[in-house]
Order: sequence, then structure tokens, then C-alpha cells
Amino acid sequence: MSYRTEEVAYVQPAQPAASAQATQQKRSTAEYRALDAAHHIHPFSDMGSLNRSGSRVIVKAQGVYLWDSDDNKIIDGMAGLWCVNVGYGRKELADAAYRQMQELPFYNTFFKTTHPPVIELSALLAELAPEPFNHFFYCNSGSEGNDTVLRIVHQYWATQGKHSKKFVISRKNGYHGSTIAGGTLGGMGYMHEQMPSKVENIVHIDQPYFFGEAEGNLTPEEFALARAQQLEAKILEIGADNVAAFIGEPFQGAGGVIFPASTYWPEIQRICRKYDILLVADEVIGGFGRTGEWFAHQHFGFEPDLITLAKGLTSGYVPMGAVGLHDRVAKAIIENGDFNHGLTYSGHPVAAAVAVANLKLLRDDKIVERVKTDTGPYFQKKLRDTFANHPIIGEISGAGLVAGLQLAEDPKARKRFANGGEVGTICRDFCFNGNLIMRATGDRMLLSPPLVINKLEIDEIVAKAKYAIDATAQQLGIS
Ligand SMILES: *Cc1c(COP(=O)(O)O)cnc(C)c1O
Repeated sequence: MSYRTEEVAYVQPAQPAASAQATQQKRSTAEYRALDAAHHIHPFSDMGSLNRSGSRVIVKAQGVYLWDSDDNKIIDGMAGLWCVNVGYGRKELADAAYRQMQELPFYNTFFKTTHPPVIELSALLAELAPEPFNHFFYCNSGSEGNDTVLRIVHQYWATQGKHSKKFVISRKNGYHGSTIAGGTLGGMGYMHEQMPSKVENIVHIDQPYFFGEAEGNLTPEEFALARAQQLEAKILEIGADNVAAFIGEPFQGAGGVIFPASTYWPEIQRICRKYDILLVADEVIGGFGRTGEWFAHQHFGFEPDLITLAKGLTSGYVPMGAVGLHDRVAKAIIENGDFNHGLTYSGHPVAAAVAVANLKLLRDDKIVERVKTDTGPYFQKKLRDTFANHPIIGEISGAGLVAGLQLAEDPKARKRFANGGEVGTICRDFCFNGNLIMRATGDRMLLSPPLVINKLEIDEIVAKAKYAIDATAQQLGIS
């Protein structure tokens, strides 16, 4: 271990905990950056270029706001990474973790043992999830959730004596995490390029991205139907006896907040039922109130067989993921001997206690209800009013408190920028400099704020987004 870099003049010893507030800043920004560059490899980053420019150091947060090490106050339009649903600084969650760590910080659930937090969480999830979801398996992340989904899917078909059902169909530009299985299920080409060995028997169909991929005069409904019917074509190509499951995010999050038209999911469900194929909804972003429903599949009106959960499950305060099993899948798993899968921290008591506190807040403070009836509709209308006829906004997608803003060279003609990724980065940098966190995925700008956001804060996000998008148009010479 070495702290010594040219930029670091000195290194303070760690302060005794009692002498300092948890949030007290111990180093200068330059020191933090130098140490970060010297020793920390960031996820999904070009480290050479990041180390040259330096990371922004986030030191504390409250509600929907973050503070960096230079004391800038930043409004978080992304709820961390789509996860801080109850907002920052909720003492209820901190207290739950503190109490549970003192009572029982860890015990496993492998060998005929269980504990109160995982029992309470499972019962509460069964209450909050739609009627047929009464059983839950736990892990530490969304990626592990989707690994678990694969294990359950294959075990399920084994119990049915259908051993040839091995293929899983997923979608291009879907995101299902970054373990080998998660990365293979996802349809991100740049991730596949760096994975020479992928999980076998996973194939992809096209995504329901109307603005970017619809040709001719198809309506959004016709286009979505055609994209859903690709699933049927793929099943017939592989043979229904060989297909185990289809997996999709109800709306694609990381792929750009792509909302399929209302015709899409009912058709996917019809096809899955017709060919006896399990339907998996990856609810890692959509779950726990994001669209105004508890789960995004409820927003789109379909019934999956398995749901992947993470992110909003604990509002990101501690890591936790889960898979919810429809009764008919759960029954097969429960009644057929050993299920040979588990993680040391499956159902971790501290994570489970935090999840329970989080879910109770979402329910009892009526946070999810408010997204549906009040703040969600307000946010969607505000965005659509503000960007109607904007010279570089081609569409606004979303529902509740999630939205995608499509940057476009000619919105009316659905013409995208040739260098869309660069335009997104320009816009993202204007946001960043204006103390708004808004993410760019290629040429789509994404918003997904904490669900506790109020109308004044929504106004602030939209005003700052408008400023950044106007500045982008101006830099491109478009007005
Ligand atoms: C974030 C995400 C994942 C992966 O979750 P991790 O906790 O990062 O492993 C999986 N699916 C979807 C839809 C996600 O957005």
C-alpha cells in the first residue's frame, strides 16, 4: 500500500470516530482525487482519461441533494444509480441497520436456519407484490438476481421433465447486470466484446425502440407489435421445445428509458403462454414505485413468472437483490428436492432489516401512491410542456418518476445526430456543471429522481435540464 503521489502533500491519520461527524471532510479535493487515481479502479470507466480529469468527490447527501468536496450542492436526477427511492438521509433505515447489527449482524439461511428480518421481509414482499408472488429468494445485487433467475428457470424445466428447454431469449440493448450471466443476458455489444466466454444458449431479438428503429409509416403500436412478434419467430427458429424463458425489463432503463407502446407486453405474454415459455420481468429499476405502480409490469399490464428485484428494494442503503417466484414456479421448486444455489449473504439480516424499513416507508408514507397520483403526473407533464417543439428534443418517454429525453437533429423527421454519443456527452457536461445529475446514454438523456421529490424540486430539475439542453443546441448552432 502506498499513498505517495506527487500531488499529495500529506496524509492525515484516520480520526477517531467519536471526534468527528460521519460526514466531516478529512482531506482536500486534490488529495482525494490523487488517492482515488492512485488506487481505485472505477466501474465502466476509462481510467486513464478519468484520472487525468479527476473524479467529482461526493461527500454527503440529504433528500434529493448531494454535496461534493468543494461544497457544491447538486440535485440528483438519477437517485444515485436508479436506486435511492426514499431519498438520502432517512434515519429509519440507518436505525434499522444499527439495531440489527447489534442484535444479529449475520447468520446464514443455508442449513435449516432462518432469522426474523428475512422472515419479515418475505412476508412483506408477498403482501406488496401482485397476488401470485408469494416466494422470494435473496442475493446481493441485480446481477446475482438474474444469475439466480437462470438457475430457477433451468431447475423448473428439469422438474417438468423438459430437459431440452435450455435457450433463453433476451433483447439487444437490454441491461441485466454485469456478472458473466447478467452481461450475456444483456444486449450491450460493448460488454460482449470484452467477454470472450459467454453463457451458452442465450440469444437476442431486437428492442422495441420506436424513435431509433421504426421504419416507414408504422405507428408506435404497430412497431411494438412487430418487435414482439420477433419473439415468436425466434421461438419457431429454435424450436419451442428448446426455449426455456424470455427475459426483459418492462421498460429499458440503462438502454435509454425506452418505453414500448401498449401493444408490446400483452403480445409477448401471449407468445410465451402459447409456446410454454417462462416470462421473466427484470424489475431492478422498475420495481418499488418508479412508474407509480409497485412494479413496472403492473404499469404495462402483464403477468410474469419471475421478477428480478434489487436497487429500490433497499433504496441502495445496503446491497440486496431478490427474485420473486410466481406460485406455479415456486411450487415446482419447493416440491422437487434440493435447489443447489445460494450466496453466503442470501437474506443477510442487516440488508433485510433495512429493506423492511425501506418498504414500510414507501408504503406508509404513501411515497409510491404520490408518484402515481401527484408527483409522477406532474413531472411527466412538466417535461412534455417544457420540451414541446424544442429544436433538439425528439421524444419524451416515461411514466411516474422516470423519463428519457431523445436528442435529435431533426425531431419531426425522427432524424438522430450522426454523432449522438458526443452530443449526449456535451449535454451531460452542461448538466454536471449546472449541478444537476442527468445521465446520458448515447443520444438519450435520462432522469430518475428519488421518489420523495417534491414539485419545487421537480421544477428545479426541469429548469436545469432545459438550460443544459438549450446550451447544447446553442453549441451545435441549432436554434
Ligand atoms: C442495475 C440493473 C441490474 C444489475 O444490478 P446490479 O445490482 O448492478 O448487479 C440488472 N438489471 C437491471 C434492469 C438493472 O437496471
